[in-house]
Amino acid sequence: MAVPKRDIVAGPPELLGLTLPGLEQLMLDIGEKKYRAAQIYDALYVERVPDIADASALPAALRARLQEHCATHSVALDTVQDSADGTKKFLFKLRDGRAIESVLIPSELREEDGQPRRRTLCVSTQVGCNLGCQFCATASLKLTRNLSAGEIVDQFLVAQQYSERPITNVVFMGMGEPMNNYDAVMQSTLILNDQRTKMVAPRRTTLSTAGVVPGIERMADEGRIIKLAVSLHATTQGVREELMPIARKWPLPRLMDAIEYYYRTTRKTVTYEYIMFDGINDSADDVKRLARIARRVPSKVNVIPFHDIDFVQPEGFAAELKPTPPDKFEHVVQLLRDEGVQVMVRSSSGKDIDAACGQLAFSKAS
Ligand code: SF4
Repeated sequence: MAVPKRDIVAGPPELLGLTLPGLEQLMLDIGEKKYRAAQIYDALYVERVPDIADASALPAALRARLQEHCATHSVALDTVQDSADGTKKFLFKLRDGRAIESVLIPSELREEDGQPRRRTLCVSTQVGCNLGCQFCATASLKLTRNLSAGEIVDQFLVAQQYSERPITNVVFMGMGEPMNNYDAVMQSTLILNDQRTKMVAPRRTTLSTAGVVPGIERMADEGRIIKLAVSLHATTQGVREELMPIARKWPLPRLMDAIEYYYRTTRKTVTYEYIMFDGINDSADDVKRLARIARRVPSKVNVIPFHDIDFVQPEGFAAELKPTPPDKFEHVVQLLRDEGVQVMVRSSSGKDIDAACGQLAFSKAS
């Protein structure tokens, strides 16, 4: 697919990512009228002009000032890869030369019109990640820095240009741990979820955490209305520690207490993500324990096939991880349903372009 050229420059402050009050402050700081902020806000997030120079509601002199004093784009699209199943993987370059990926995933098709029910954008929140989950390709990149709110919002704005119809859902589930970049992520939701921008509804926005307990508690205390997903992946502390080193810092009982606190405070259901690994977390005992966990607060469990990450040459325990065979996978899903657990089987969308869950690490695009 041809990629339109977009210039991004290091240095000046970002325009994208500013909320209306932030833009009002910017206008005051540069000696402009405060009401111009609303015009800029609408141009950026409602009309979504390709460039601030195209914002015809603004006087030419102000457009020129903004171009001079601000970075008007936060990410530049480098490559789009198309999967046979309709998934698209975007490689973005950042203003400091670093790179991130996002994935646009169509859901199953509606019978009425043959269109996907949902178009979900999986956005990145950090450059790399330092949590070291054994099954995740991003972990091999190590953390370089957090993304800004502008870099998060701009992933949406560019991806939308490549989607035939509006993106319906956003998941903070790409590169990085969103709770470790909490402020920028929440600032991005103020824009993404603003009724005025009509980007995506809060109930269709999900933050997925590896289990950062203070972040879960903060979301509850602040009454955040986006949805919470927790990457569980194990039913015992020992296995979880092996798969996800973060479990040593916030052990399973502490995590479960935080989730219970979240539910009691917000009354919002929680989604558990559960990647199935052959012989590691897919036994009958795991089913019983997972059902007990899932019953603690109203929840659903997304079970996910493990996608190999051989392209990052994993070593040690990570190299031993194998997907649960399809027959056994189906059997475990049925056992969970028999236990009364609300189970969704997540597809392997984008697997052929290494865009499936846990595979984001610039495998083929760079
Ligand atoms: S699964 Fe998420 S939290 Fe874990 S290493 Fe990968 S990006 Fe980081």
